[in-house]
Amino acid sequence: MSTVPEAVVVERLSRNYGAVQALAEVSFGIRQGEIFGLIGPNGSGKTTCLRIIATLLRPTAGSVTVFGLNVVRRATEVRRLISYLPEDAGAYRQLSGIEYLRFMATFYSRDSDERDRLVETGRQISDLGSRLSDKVATYSKGMTRRLLLARALMTAPRLAILDEPTSGLDVTSSLELREIIKRYARTGTTILLSSHNMLEVEFLSDRVALLRQGRLIETGTPSELRQRHNASNLEDVFLKVSPPTHTRR
Ligand code: ATP
Repeated sequence: MSTVPEAVVVERLSRNYGAVQALAEVSFGIRQGEIFGLIGPNGSGKTTCLRIIATLLRPTAGSVTVFGLNVVRRATEVRRLISYLPEDAGAYRQLSGIEYLRFMATFYSRDSDERDRLVETGRQISDLGSRLSDKVATYSKGMTRRLLLARALMTAPRLAILDEPTSGLDVTSSLELREIIKRYARTGTTILLSSHNMLEVEFLSDRVALLRQGRLIETGTPSELRQRHNASNLEDVFLKVSPPTHTRR
């Protein structure tokens, strides 16, 4: 067993929305410094799970700790350690990219030197070069996502939670974003991301958890899962552990 304390521990986590059970007794752990991919089809509970870990939603049952802190009881402390990039996040379109980063930095620090350092880090992560002087309204979807990712990472969070970070992006933009995430993970930040694109997550994540209809159906490294199920990729693993039927959502 690893002696490094886990970054995230999810234990028997359940969440209902009225009669809908979005998560049912889900348990998994994320090690410090790893890229962990939560994968599953639409409606499998990924966003619900990420929002609970990010302290934005309360569990119906079960518990989550982030670096040993309970996300319900110690939410304020947890928020200081994490950053969360929602799937549908947008940036202020009338600001330039650099103005947006400066504006967001004001939420993190009152010290102008520190704010400058954050913005400089964000500038480097975004890799947008001179386009940072242009209004966000002129950016492509891929550029906007890079800016938002830079905002989420510039504060050097201990845990970055990224909901579908490449959603809606073309192959090249997705690749660029994945490269940024991979590069950034080498700095020691733990990264939790979700995606319904199993092949993409396979190449990005150290370990993954597969969700289906709110239940955890597999967890492990991509190669462990491929071997365990004699599958050629994670999509294949998913189909083997959860064959489609007409009665399912
Ligand atoms: P997607 O990939 O489509 O974003 P997801 O895997 O992130 O899906 P969730 O958004 O967590 O899944 O949704 C899980 C289930 O909970 C779905 O059945 C969804 O309809 C339901 N659900 C989510 N949010 C709410 C809500 N606010 N009220 C009622 N039901 C909800």
